[in-house]
Amino acid sequence: MIQSVPYLVTLALLALAFRLASAFDPSALQDFCVAVNDSSSGVFVNGKFCKDPNLVKVDDFFAPGLDIPGSTSNPLGSNVTRIAVDNLLGLNTLDISLARIDFARNGVNTPHTHPRSTEVLQVLEGTLYAGFVTSNPNRLFTKILNKGDVIVFPISLIHFELNIGKTDAVALSFFNSQNPGVITTANAVFGSNPLINVDVLAKAFQLDKNVIEYLQKRIWQNSNN
Ligand code: MN
Repeated sequence: MIQSVPYLVTLALLALAFRLASAFDPSALQDFCVAVNDSSSGVFVNGKFCKDPNLVKVDDFFAPGLDIPGSTSNPLGSNVTRIAVDNLLGLNTLDISLARIDFARNGVNTPHTHPRSTEVLQVLEGTLYAGFVTSNPNRLFTKILNKGDVIVFPISLIHFELNIGKTDAVALSFFNSQNPGVITTANAVFGSNPLINVDVLAKAFQLDKNVIEYLQKRIWQNSNN
């Protein structure tokens, strides 16, 4: 019996070590969460504060209206209706959210990424040409999706959808983040605030500065806020 005590202690220490080794940092729930030493200067958490459980109501877990098409009357001919933690507060800390995407004929959801999430897209109506590009050396994967078809866009990779059918199209997308975030590729490069230095972009894209300045003066549409 006495001899087993060191054994048990060793076992307990191993268990503790395993717990420490398997601990992990929480995923980022916004673009950044800069640390402050002085809590009186304003404190935010990585995500949202939690409501008193006694005050929680069923409507905190409820969001209506995803049957309503978003307006596609814009130059892109698409619209994303997002249900994430900002408009469905019960999603906080649950690593999930969704969006409805409407497409007019020839409408496009322009190339973009979600820095914090993989996306699973299902076509509800219509026909989409969808694709994504891997990290360097940038392989392109594309697929024509019909009603009921599903595609996955792995986390952070640039992806897009184009309505190639003869009707409007609708898709539902699911995200493994309460706040997936969106970086619309062209907008981020040519429409940032303030603008990226022309010399940087002229070299990067091997274009004349005039072309870069032309691109920077465009109004960059965004259906994917
Ligand atoms: Mn997307």
